[in-house]
Amino acid sequence: MKPFCDSFGRTHSYLRVSVTDACNMRCTYCDPSHTGRFANDRLLSMQEILRIVRLFVTGHGITKLRLTGGEPMVRRDILQLFRGIGELKTTYPLTVGMTTNGTLLFDHLPSLRALGLDALNISLDSLDRDRFHSITGMDALPHILESFRRAQELGFPSVKANVVIMQGVNDHEIPDFVRFAAEHSLTVRFIEYMPFAKNKWESDRFIDFRSMKQIAEQEGTLIPMAYQPHSVSKDFRIAGTNGMVSFISSVSDHFCGGCNRLRLTADGQLRTCLFALPSMETDLRTLLRSREGSDEAIADAVRNVLKNKWEKHPDPDTIVSTQHSVMRAIGG
Ligand code: SF4
Repeated sequence: MKPFCDSFGRTHSYLRVSVTDACNMRCTYCDPSHTGRFANDRLLSMQEILRIVRLFVTGHGITKLRLTGGEPMVRRDILQLFRGIGELKTTYPLTVGMTTNGTLLFDHLPSLRALGLDALNISLDSLDRDRFHSITGMDALPHILESFRRAQELGFPSVKANVVIMQGVNDHEIPDFVRFAAEHSLTVRFIEYMPFAKNKWESDRFIDFRSMKQIAEQEGTLIPMAYQPHSVSKDFRIAGTNGMVSFISSVSDHFCGGCNRLRLTADGQLRTCLFALPSMETDLRTLLRSREGSDEAIADAVRNVLKNKWEKHPDPDTIVSTQHSVMRAIGG
């Protein structure tokens, strides 16, 4: 087993795979324009994604996998990928998660659970139907709340709500979300609004996790939970309940020191950081499709690009000026 390490001694055991840059929603903090989608011939096939996943898990110490998008469930052959990953899980220690907007989830929940999906993060940016519609471009709140209920009913080990908090948009709903977490005994993850290409990130829409936490504490006492190695979140249990809230402070208080994440984009770019510069990603698609595309060559390409990984991401203004990819093409 040859784990993927960078020059700061960080071992990368977590692969996030964006299976498509397509999405059926138009969230304001992502890329509502939806221009510049990957051409079909640039998209990795399920076999190509599975080959990379299999190589990384069997030979390079990946033990955590998360499927993302765009919206992963828009890919018609997504269950095929879960089937392949499910087979890997029978032999290798692997936890599998998915980040989804929940619109195409309900009917597939039993199959996804049977295929070994462990962790579901479902986007839920408002508990108010109209505001949900204005943030996402889709009037889908009741349906998504149904998917939460069904996922918990089916016994998924982890069901969490992802909430991107924007000042003046949904920050006043933080107490409602704390109540929601307490009432439904699940985790609400409050995510700082991050700059990506085309999402017109503005600092006056940004609210940091400390301010979010102060607002959340108006609703209940938050009991800090032990920090999990490599974790991106600061976790708290809501006193007297089984509800949890987490804060993801990517912008105001980075967690790069414990970074163990690699990202594979839908067009086969291996990114060593969420905010990667061009030098911090490498094209696995072309390699995969060439005669030189052996497993060793792919592993070498990953090791080489990891040499360029920075110790920590730069300040928001630098990120704004250097971002060349939209969030839906990276998968968050
Ligand atoms: S910003 Fe980049 S280096 Fe920092 S934790 Fe995220 S992926 Fe890792």
